[in-house]
Amino acid sequence: MTPQLDVQAENPGDNNPNPLEETVGDDLNSRAGEPINESSSLQSETATEQCPTTDSLSTDPARWGKIDESVRAYWARKGPESVQNKDANVKASERHYKHQKRLFSKTHFKRKHLNGEYLPREWLLYSPSTSCVFCFACRLFGEGDGQSLFESGYNDWKHATRRIAEHENSDSHRKAMFNYINRAAADGVIDSQLKKQFESQCNYWSEVLQRVVPVVKFLSERGLAFRGSSEIFGRADNGNYMGILELISEFDPFLKSHIQLYGNAGVGTPSYLSSKTCDEFIELMSNRVLSEIIAEVKVTKYFSICIDSTPDMTHIDQLTFIIRYVSPEGLVEERFLKFLPISSHTGKALCDAALTVLHEMDIDISNCRGQCYDNAANMAGVYNGLQAHIKDINPLVEWVPCAAHTLNLAGVNSMNCCTETADFFNFIQTLFNFCSNPQLDGRW
Ligand SMILES: [Zn+2]
Repeated sequence: MTPQLDVQAENPGDNNPNPLEETVGDDLNSRAGEPINESSSLQSETATEQCPTTDSLSTDPARWGKIDESVRAYWARKGPESVQNKDANVKASERHYKHQKRLFSKTHFKRKHLNGEYLPREWLLYSPSTSCVFCFACRLFGEGDGQSLFESGYNDWKHATRRIAEHENSDSHRKAMFNYINRAAADGVIDSQLKKQFESQCNYWSEVLQRVVPVVKFLSERGLAFRGSSEIFGRADNGNYMGILELISEFDPFLKSHIQLYGNAGVGTPSYLSSKTCDEFIELMSNRVLSEIIAEVKVTKYFSICIDSTPDMTHIDQLTFIIRYVSPEGLVEERFLKFLPISSHTGKALCDAALTVLHEMDIDISNCRGQCYDNAANMAGVYNGLQAHIKDINPLVEWVPCAAHTLNLAGVNSMNCCTETADFFNFIQTLFNFCSNPQLDGRW
């Protein structure tokens, strides 16, 4: 029963399972790191319920019962050390699998850092009464939804190495650790080693984001495409975003090592390099830009609006909403506010959509002084067009027909004077209508 200490590298966010398994019996052919077979999973879902008596001051985490503020305050002051039960007899934790037996290995109380140093895993608690392990932070400061196995008690030793590493790197665990450390720091009793570990993790991910955010900003402000045909580091078709990160990593050893470790780690492993991270930052940045525009419009007070709609690739009409105003510096600014999917093309529906956008952005229509659309009847109509509906609300909003569209109409009418040209363009138009028919999509 000798713990095998051929531990492989771990670091913040590492999901590599390490073979820190203590095993029992001779017929062991299943090792940590195997694909997890749910049917063999023996996790205890009701470990906390199995415990007969509750005592919030017990050194057995399964006996804490319902976690309330007083329990949190007590254990945040006391820290996890006395509850870890590192010296407990773990014989009772033996579980029988199909062809083997396993029990909890005390080697899980340690993890190996990238530099080879062993650090204590201070959040891990062993419960002698239920023979399960718990997470100190999640048990006390978790979401309380019972979703985390380490909140309600975990005892599937066959997959323990992987599950513990996964838990350590999960968002919910990080949040719980953050809450615990904040609480303990407020009480002035935080364990310095644990705090150091947590802070080093925070610093690591903050360093990653310091490299990711400028790349997102660079591509966004130039309107360049982010994604390519693949999302794999090391390939030439992985798009501008991943390509630039690879370029920076040529001169930045930190990013290089991060990409090597997490770049192609797959779904479920936080890397902060994924398209999801990009989308989140793009959204944050666009919200910030939008709020700046709105603030400027409010300072300048008067504005005009330009609206047009066009179908996108999926044949959904997108309403483009543009606002025009004179900046405090005296310059004419024309800003795109947003795309708005619309289902109806009537003047009334478009007016409602425009008013909704202005309302969402807290811009007062009574300060609007101009509107500019194309000459289509639903936009320019004197009685039921969008411009008429807006004018009903605010008579000071003067309508100006779009010069480009007016020029286009003049061109079309001139063409119609010549039969050959009219026939040619009619043919082009019919061909376009035929090809863009959504019902034909399956055929092309
Ligand atoms: Zn946890």
